[in-house]
Amino acid sequence: MPYKILEKKTLADNVISLWVEAPQIAKKRKAGQFIILRPNDKSERIPLTIAGVKKDAGAIRLIAQVVGDTTRELADLNEGDFIRDLAGPLGHPTPIKNYGTVACIGGGIGVAPMLPIAAAMKEAGNHVVTIVGARTKELLILEDELREASSEFIITTDDGSYGEKGFVTDVLKKRIADSAKIDFAAAIGPVPMMKAVAAVTKEAGIPTIASLNTIMIDGTGMCGGCRVTIGGEVKYTCVDGPEFDAHQVDFDELQNRLGTYREQENKEEHNCKLEGKV
Ligand SMILES: Cc1cc2nc3c(=O)[nH]c(=O)nc-3n(C[C@H](O)[C@H](O)[C@H](O)COP(=O)(O)OP(=O)(O)OC[C@H]3O[C@@H](n4cnc5c(N)ncnc54)[C@H](O)[C@@H]3O)c2cc1C
Repeated sequence: MPYKILEKKTLADNVISLWVEAPQIAKKRKAGQFIILRPNDKSERIPLTIAGVKKDAGAIRLIAQVVGDTTRELADLNEGDFIRDLAGPLGHPTPIKNYGTVACIGGGIGVAPMLPIAAAMKEAGNHVVTIVGARTKELLILEDELREASSEFIITTDDGSYGEKGFVTDVLKKRIADSAKIDFAAAIGPVPMMKAVAAVTKEAGIPTIASLNTIMIDGTGMCGGCRVTIGGEVKYTCVDGPEFDAHQVDFDELQNRLGTYREQENKEEHNCKLEGKV
């Protein structure tokens, strides 16, 4: 059953927000979970985090950065159009409870999946310190919503065009050095950022989760494409994650695997050798 797009907004260059009619998923979803979708029947399957939910309207929110073919096909759909396939909620929810003070650290498009986690942590009674990073002011999204979902909200930009100049880890290190209490941390964003946050919190002894954006095909544990090494053990991001103990993730392997198909992805035209044969 195709899924109707109820609302479409552009949040920044190449970043769209969609509210999609999916009542079953809206009812069951918890913070941290994702879906797998195909925009149309020729599309690949891709995973996107459920960035919000309106239970009464039976709608879920998806926020996507256009980085290649499938996110482009999704961005080409408009309000009233239908997404061909959508499966979920998938993955384990975020372990939401009252830890005390929780640091939610998001970078780039990673701030979209961080929004529901920050909101749920605040609802659970935590003092939520949200630190978001963007390369520059224009690329920062969801500022008002993240501010509302947090007790404290800190912005960093690489070029200093907005908020504090520098990286999210600079702010985190300073807070730890000023012995500000942090009982739990969550990191979502580019792999180098998550790796750097994990190094800072490991040294400070702060339990930390990272939500991994591995390449995923089926999302149900069948293909193994999203495998990662956690504490020396092979895990599947789709059925064991997407969040893992950040101090146990082999981030270098993850970075390498994300680039597996870079050559094919950068190829203009895909000449399918199977066309008309299957
Ligand atoms: C659990 C999970 C949640 C995610 N949530 C979001 C989100 O909320 N918003 C968002 O913008 N992005 C999210 N992503 C990343 C998103 O799935 C990819 O950007 C998307 O699949 C790119 O597909 P493409 O065809 O447009 O690009 P392609 O040209 O195919 O690939 C561009 C790059 O995207 C990555 N990628 C490609 N295919 C996949 C795939 N099947 N799975 C994961 N990464 C892939 C690779 O790094 C690749 O180099 C999430 C990924 C995971 C695993």
